[in-house]
Amino acid sequence: MNGSVDISAFKSQVPVVTYDVVQPYIARIAAGERSSILCGEQIVELLRSSGTSQGEPRLMPSISEDIYRRMYLYSLIMPIMSKYIRGLGEGKAMYLLFVKAETLTNAGIPVRSVLTSYYKSPQFLQRKHDLYNSYTSPDEVILCPDSQQSMYCQLLCGLVERQNVVRLGAVFASAFLRSISFLEKHWHDLVTDIRTGRINPSITNAACRVATESFLAQPNPELADEVEAICSSESWKGVLGRLWPNVKYIEAVLTGTMAQYVPMLEFYSDGRIPLVCTMYASSESYFGVNLRPLCSPKDVSYTILPNMAYFEFVPLDDGLRLAEDGEAVEKEKLVGLVDVKVGCYYELVVTTFAGLYRYRVGDVLQVTGFYNRAPQFKFICRRNVILSVDADKTNEEDLHGSVSRAKKILEDRGHILLEYTSFTDTSTVPGHYVLFWEVKATPTSGSGGARLDAQVLESCCVAVEESLDCVYRRCRAHDRSVGPLEIRLVEAGAFDALMDLLVSQGGSINQYKTPRCIEPGGAALELLDSKATASFFSPRDPEATGV
Ligand code: AMP
Repeated sequence: MNGSVDISAFKSQVPVVTYDVVQPYIARIAAGERSSILCGEQIVELLRSSGTSQGEPRLMPSISEDIYRRMYLYSLIMPIMSKYIRGLGEGKAMYLLFVKAETLTNAGIPVRSVLTSYYKSPQFLQRKHDLYNSYTSPDEVILCPDSQQSMYCQLLCGLVERQNVVRLGAVFASAFLRSISFLEKHWHDLVTDIRTGRINPSITNAACRVATESFLAQPNPELADEVEAICSSESWKGVLGRLWPNVKYIEAVLTGTMAQYVPMLEFYSDGRIPLVCTMYASSESYFGVNLRPLCSPKDVSYTILPNMAYFEFVPLDDGLRLAEDGEAVEKEKLVGLVDVKVGCYYELVVTTFAGLYRYRVGDVLQVTGFYNRAPQFKFICRRNVILSVDADKTNEEDLHGSVSRAKKILEDRGHILLEYTSFTDTSTVPGHYVLFWEVKATPTSGSGGARLDAQVLESCCVAVEESLDCVYRRCRAHDRSVGPLEIRLVEAGAFDALMDLLVSQGGSINQYKTPRCIEPGGAALELLDSKATASFFSPRDPEATGV
């Protein structure tokens, strides 16, 4: 740019890029080169995104003043909520917040998730514990690196304060539900702790123990009886309102892939507690807030804050088709934040303060209206993602690569994989990936090939998992936020029946391709399930190399 700050020069000269273009610069900075190869400011940390590139997590540059931008967005949430709900300052929030392990690059730059960075920042730890910032979880418990111990203690503190809790939540709905299912498994222990005033010996993290013990302070058999009576009821329908009777809403991201968790949350809240999505953000930049927080999750729109980054949009006029990673996006095609049109779909592009220039975030948004002159967007989907339970995001290509590797095991046993498809099953907690496989003995293998016993199919499950990317493997083996992968074998002809179904629903026979992912709860899933003959689960954790 030769020092120019002219917007039209920026638009005509700066290319639109994906991570692969930025990655070599990030790698050089990580190895010790100066930040100025990318950015005018010092890059102080690299934020580990849940997006991956060639199997590795993407690292986003961040500068020290970025924390103030994030704080700014957070600071808007409670004033917005208080416009709609009274009395939020009269109690505490039980928010289940977790940190993840961090590492240092060769040059000593911390590599961590954006939320870990925030919870460890002085801005979070020295926040004024005013009424809006008052959480039941002590900071030491949030900062506990063992997420199981952290979850146990956060639930314990939340139960101790049950009458005082006015807000429940987590960042993503998946984490909130995982905590509820953890509670289902561990409430006996939690009740014992409340009854005796002593914390379970499985909590070994010293800081976490001390902080929780001071919460417990003394035996409370009366509270223990109350919690026991609620938790031992046969159905957990509506349990959240019974455990936390003064709660006014549940906050979590419930848009995008998280929408699959709305029915479970409605079950636990019996549809009586509003489900609120407050913000839209990423490791690259924070984006915007929901100004109508009490609307239904399916109607949520986010108003982008123009001071978070410089926003541009790639119009998606040809049936939502997005340019592939290597495919150039014409820079002249991009439209600015003030020029987007209601009803149209766009891919989000950001220029951040920390060294991303015209960077394609990969999210598809639709304009739903304006707040004053600021456009509001519905989150439609993330580019290419077909399977996602928690932070994992698996695209069709990754799934295909993993299945291709696993099917070699079948081939060695005289069988071939004729067809496959997949879906994310969130009826289990944590949710897990399910693959439907139609398998046939190879004609040359004589008497129907060697028998396919459970062990073979279980090793196929492991092989698929071990070929999925590192975020998936971390969620499975470390965070335990994704359950073991399942292969369901279907009878011969099941995929022909699937094709008949989809063509009868208006698909073209000529252009028919087996969908590599099907909708949970849809007719396709019902059909394949009715033809399933056996099911196998991954018997062990995938190796979590490179995490
Ligand atoms: P990460 O890269 O791990 O920081 O994840 C950021 C991505 O998560 C975004 O680009 C979106 O795809 C998704 N995301 C974040 N907030 C929301 C939201 N409120 N609704 C839907 N998706 C979201």
